[in-house]
Amino acid sequence: MSHMLLHACCGPCSMYPVNLLLSEGTTLDLYWYNPNIHPEFEWNRRLENLAKAADHYHVNLIREGMCEEEYWKSGEYLEEYASRCLMCYDKRLDAAAKYASENGYDSFCTTLLVSPYQQHDAILVAGRRKAAKYGIEFEYHDFRPGFREGQNMARDIGLYRQKYCGCIFSLEESDFKEKILKSFNTGSAS
Ligand code: SF4
Repeated sequence: MSHMLLHACCGPCSMYPVNLLLSEGTTLDLYWYNPNIHPEFEWNRRLENLAKAADHYHVNLIREGMCEEEYWKSGEYLEEYASRCLMCYDKRLDAAAKYASENGYDSFCTTLLVSPYQQHDAILVAGRRKAAKYGIEFEYHDFRPGFREGQNMARDIGLYRQKYCGCIFSLEESDFKEKILKSFNTGSAS
């Protein structure tokens, strides 16, 4: 039986992939490493909701990293990457592949592959590159057909479902910016 490290960007996006993988007989641990999520209130809120999803499925959750708002704001990565999103995928999958390789997993994957809003092919390229770098399998799944189902599953167990991708730039671009900012000010957990 294969044992996977599943990088998880948030609780809602974890629901469908975890359910599918467990039903197929894969054993897995969830891995939280998302320095792209800003501000810190939101970073904590998404982590708390991922922990609820992990509890729901009785799977282990490994937590690493912290909110890196200043780094994202600096733009210094643009000397190395063509865009902030390519840097964002690269950074997160690098951490996941490294952890998986150093801790005896058979493979790694990411819940980013469930979202129709992400650059799916770029995530696949980054995953394969990190697999080669750390000598571990990147187990590719196109989870996108289950995106809506996963969001409904998240709603059914009362998870917070965010309305922006994660970084401060995506918050600025969100149609729901005012509502999101209000939730920070009120300390609302949903
Ligand atoms: S938009 Fe999303 S994928 Fe792109 S940098 Fe921001 S958090 Fe990362």
